[in-house]
Formats: sequence, structure tokens, C-alpha cells
Amino acid sequence: MKVYLNGALVDASQAKISVFDHGFLYGDGIFEGIRLYHKRLFKLEEHLERLEYSAKAILLELPFTRAEITEAISATCRANSLDDGYIRLIVTRGEGSLGLSPYSCKKQGVVIIADQITLYSEELYAKGLNIVTVPTRRMSRTALSPAIKSLNYLNNILAKIEALQSNSPEALMLNEEGYVSECSGDNVFIVHKGRLVTPPSSDGVLIGVTRQVIMDLARKLDIPTLEAQLTRYDLWNADECFLTGTAAEIIPVVKLDGRCIGNGLPGTITGRLYRSFKEQVATEGLPL
Ligand code: PMP
Repeated sequence: MKVYLNGALVDASQAKISVFDHGFLYGDGIFEGIRLYHKRLFKLEEHLERLEYSAKAILLELPFTRAEITEAISATCRANSLDDGYIRLIVTRGEGSLGLSPYSCKKQGVVIIADQITLYSEELYAKGLNIVTVPTRRMSRTALSPAIKSLNYLNNILAKIEALQSNSPEALMLNEEGYVSECSGDNVFIVHKGRLVTPPSSDGVLIGVTRQVIMDLARKLDIPTLEAQLTRYDLWNADECFLTGTAAEIIPVVKLDGRCIGNGLPGTITGRLYRSFKEQVATEGLPL
């Protein structure tokens, strides 16, 4: 496998970064996960825009233009002969001294990994997930906004560990006020009485690219869609529930905290959105 590292494609075994990189020392950096379908980069502009917003928020200057990074991503996919895959784009603060100050870091680090990904088994997509709410709260957006896709994922990792300790593949996270925010690596949606609902960004969520794709598709399919505060009660009593993410795509949730959602089977609106999503990814995207 070839990995893009600071301007060159190198063998994966040679793709090494300095232990003085603040991305490693402090999680000081940002990233994106992007999907390649049929040799096309799906929603690349949206991912690059979010990367730019994350960079702005942490005062990190991106050392490339959109055109340059697009070419680097394409070249990495081509070098690995990928038709379908998952791309991880990482920008670190770079090598510096041991103090927290980012000003000792003179050159940002840029890494692109293009590989395969399977998050959940086909069986889980067909049957739906059984998940739990975890004790770890999604961090406050007034402390470190969950909208920043930073290299510091400890908040999510703690939630993921708690879920796995309960034999649950995903963790539903509440915000500090106790409202539903999102899962450890995915956004959450419910369907109730024909309406599609997802928590607003003000409840502390990463503004998912897939989340937006699903809201756009729902509007095209005339499914009323809104962003609204949700409690666990709303999820327990929803007719349908599903998660969205670049890696997970759309996956149904059929049980939360021991309560069956709807009739305990993946819902019909979830199915419609899933099929429309699959059609969209099969035809859209920037060719390599
Ligand atoms: N929330 C979190 C915490 C995430 O890490 C991700 C990305 N894996 C998502 C939501 C989904 O975002 P996207 O659809 O852009 O992948």
C-alpha cells in the first residue's frame, strides 16, 4: 500500500511521522474520512469545506489549495488501484518543541491513507443495531466544539469503550444537558409519525456530510424533515431510528437501552432512504 506523506507517495511501511509532531503529542490536528465509490470521490467539496472550517477553528493554516489536495487524494487512490474505498485525510500541526504552543511548529504534516473499510457486517445492516446510551456525555460545544473534526477523539473513544463493555456496537451520547447528540462516530436520526428528525448542531454534533445527504434525499422524497432537540424518550418511542456516517453509510437501529424501536425491525422510511443513498453514491462524485 502507498501512503501520501507530505508531498510524496511512500510505501506504507515507510509512512512515519515524528514523535514531536503535535498531532501525536496533543491531538493537535484535524482530519476527514472520505468515500470513494466506483472511482469517484463522493461529496469531496463538502469534506474539504468541513476541513477548512475545522482548520479555521483551531487556527491551522492548510498548506494546500483545494485543487492541490484533490489531486493528491486522487493520486493516492490511483497508486493503490482502488475502485471503492475509504480515504483518511489528516493535517497535523507538525513537528515542534514539547510545550503546548503551536507556534513552535513550523510545517504542517499532511497524510492521506486510501484503504478499504467495512464497519459493520451485512447481517447488521439487514437486521439493525441494538445499542445503548452511555454515561460519557458528548463534550460541550462551548469547551471544544464537536463540529471540529479534530485528532482528539478521546470523548468518542470513551463512549465507544462503554458501549462495547455492554456488548453494544455503538454508543448513543447525550450532551451535558441530557439531550441526544450523536453516536461515537455517527449522526442519529429518528422517524416519528412520518417525520424525519435529527438533533440540531446546537446540541453538539459533528455536522455530518452523510447527515446532510440524507436530509437532502428526504426532501426529494417528500419526507418532512426537521432538526429538533431529542430526548431518549423520543428515541425509545420512535417508529424508526438509524445512524449515518461516511464509513457506516446508513444503518438501522432496532433497539435502544433494551427498548425495541417501532416493531423492532428496520423501518420502511429507513429502507427508502438507504436505497436512494445507494443510487446516489453509484452515480455521483468526482472522477479520479
Ligand atoms: N459524528 C462523529 C463523531 C463522527 O466522527 C462522524 C464521522 N465518522 C460522524 C458523526 C458522521 O459524519 P460524516 O457523515 O461526515 O462521516
